Amino acid sequence: LRVHAVPMDPPLGDGGRLLLLLSDRTRDRAVERMRADFVANASHELRTPLASLIGFIETLRGPAEDDREASARFLGIMAEQADRMRRLIDDLLGLSRIEITEHQPPTGRVDLGALAAAEVEAMGPILAARDAQVAMDVAPGLIASPADAGQLGQVLRNLLENAVRYGREGGTIRLGVARAEDTMPPRWPARPGLVLTVADDGPGIPRQHLPRLTERFYRVDRGRGRNAGGTGLGLAIVKHIVNRHRGQMQIESEEGVGSTFRVWLPAA
Ligand code: ADP
Repeated sequence: LRVHAVPMDPPLGDGGRLLLLLSDRTRDRAVERMRADFVANASHELRTPLASLIGFIETLRGPAEDDREASARFLGIMAEQADRMRRLIDDLLGLSRIEITEHQPPTGRVDLGALAAAEVEAMGPILAARDAQVAMDVAPGLIASPADAGQLGQVLRNLLENAVRYGREGGTIRLGVARAEDTMPPRWPARPGLVLTVADDGPGIPRQHLPRLTERFYRVDRGRGRNAGGTGLGLAIVKHIVNRHRGQMQIESEEGVGSTFRVWLPAA
């Protein structure tokens, strides 16, 4: 609590008045705390691959200098670590750009079915690497508006990449685009609009993690998420894009059955 005391006219003394201003700073403190945590987490995430790069550079300059085979292997690892740093920086910059524009709603119109088809096509190699497939259930001619095609493409990419990364090897991902009226799952707000669904048949997410998944750098399994190439920012980016569209996101998951991510968007 912050307290401001302002003497009023007539000044203190007999019959004097004092104006007390009390302001609740709990929320400000929480925001400051979150920012500090975010900077600490981001630094830590960047420092880990950097430490690995520095270590390998020293090894290549010293003990492994004349060992061609070891050098080639180390360079491979270094390339991976550098790539991880690049992805992290891209996601950090992406997130801050989205945050800056979050209060200005988008202005375009986006054919969600066409966008979904294009994103799935572009993911061919990633799907093939995990022997996964996408089953599309997309009604034609559904236009999200007001909407930003680049940002909604990113939403689709992040959700699909997660479904591939954390889903079952050889699994099937269901990708749906439908009118909200036609796909009313339980507890979903009954509002006209469009619903984008990405569902996997992977191991699922334990219930206690669900409310925290969209926090920056939150991972259910830290080691696994990193090794699989995730930055821990994917769902935070999705959340901010959905907020900018004045949309809503819902996550459902059942262990051993799979996870379903639904995004509600306004329609033209
Ligand atoms: P990451 O870059 O680590 O994938 P995200 O923000 O995209 O970060 O996701 C946060 C965490 O949520 C992941 O680390 C993973 O533990 C969990 N997660 C996301 N999508 C799925 C999914 N489809 N199935 C199981 N777990 C998931």
